[in-house]
Amino acid sequence: MAFRPPYLHRLTYPFRVLGMGLAALPIGVVLYDLQAAWPAWAWLVISCGLWPHLAYLWARRSADPYAAEARNFLIDSILAGSWLPMMHFNLLPSAVLVIVVTADKVNSGIPGLWLRALPAMLLATLAVGLAMDFEVDLASRTAVVLACLPILAIHTLAVSANLYRLMSRVQAQNQQLEEMTHRDSLTGVDSRSHWEDQARRLLKRHRDEGVPASLLLLDIDHFKSTNDRHGHGVGDDVLRALAQRIRDTLPADGIRGRLGGDEFVVALALPTEQALAHAERLRVAVQALEFPAQPGLAISISVGLAAPPAAGDLRAWLEAADAALYRAKHGGRNRTEQLQAREAGVTP
Ligand code: GH3
Ligand code: MG
Repeated sequence: MAFRPPYLHRLTYPFRVLGMGLAALPIGVVLYDLQAAWPAWAWLVISCGLWPHLAYLWARRSADPYAAEARNFLIDSILAGSWLPMMHFNLLPSAVLVIVVTADKVNSGIPGLWLRALPAMLLATLAVGLAMDFEVDLASRTAVVLACLPILAIHTLAVSANLYRLMSRVQAQNQQLEEMTHRDSLTGVDSRSHWEDQARRLLKRHRDEGVPASLLLLDIDHFKSTNDRHGHGVGDDVLRALAQRIRDTLPADGIRGRLGGDEFVVALALPTEQALAHAERLRVAVQALEFPAQPGLAISISVGLAAPPAAGDLRAWLEAADAALYRAKHGGRNRTEQLQAREAGVTP
């Protein structure tokens, strides 16, 4: 179902005041030329002067402002349709009216509204035309042409400006959305799915081009008890501090992600000996972390290191790093472990 903004009438209001107000100009010139009687002038005041405000109040007081505004759009078309025979179908202002009210419906974003409005406009033209004997005088003299220029120019520019505003907002929201799907909101490192996409690319480059590659899988030791002792908020601070240490300590081109919970993963375009040195530097740096508001709180991490296995995908690579991490945990924690090549089926 399409989005139904309940504030549509507020967005539409200035455009209706502007559009109807500017439309009064060419209609007034044609009425003057036709030496129209007072009811025509009264209709001009009602439809171009009063109606935009009535429409706004009507929608605002309605229980369903969106539906009320959709109905107001149809009434716009009925009003426009009524003016064609009253202007004896003077060609330029008639065409401008039909185009402007149809464009307004397209711009409203209400699906199919412009199409539904066409018969309403046609019926109004027929009804008023029958009452007025369908007098036709297509010629538009220069004064009428000039009177059409403001609505053509200003309405078009106003609609374009609105469209530009909407497009800018959509672009900003798209960017925000991309940021949200790519980043882990707590720690700022890559989200799991974004990390996987990039790690897969590194694995492919390793296989196709021989680029070196290593995977560090790291997990905070006894994080549950940190949470239990200091609270979940402090636990979050620890996760953020660890992510910052990863950013500060490991190479900037490392692909850093959070797999979930207290488990982080970094893919490095380095051979395992160099990756091991980085992992150890990180492990020591994490041990040195201090939390001034929580004296006595110290944390450590265990790290599993793996080169890409000879066969298999990213999952196999992660499993190899996980096996190394398991060994680090069971070897006493606060250490880095690496699977031997023959254990992991690692590419030489
Ligand atoms: P181990 O040394 O074996 O890793 O022990 P552990 O206590 O760290 O065990 P484990 O890694 O399984 O615990 C993860 C804990 O992380 C469990 C959960 O309460 C906590 N956790 C998961 N996500 C978050 C989070 O976003 N914020 C906080 N504060 N805690 C989290
Ligand atoms: Mg843990």
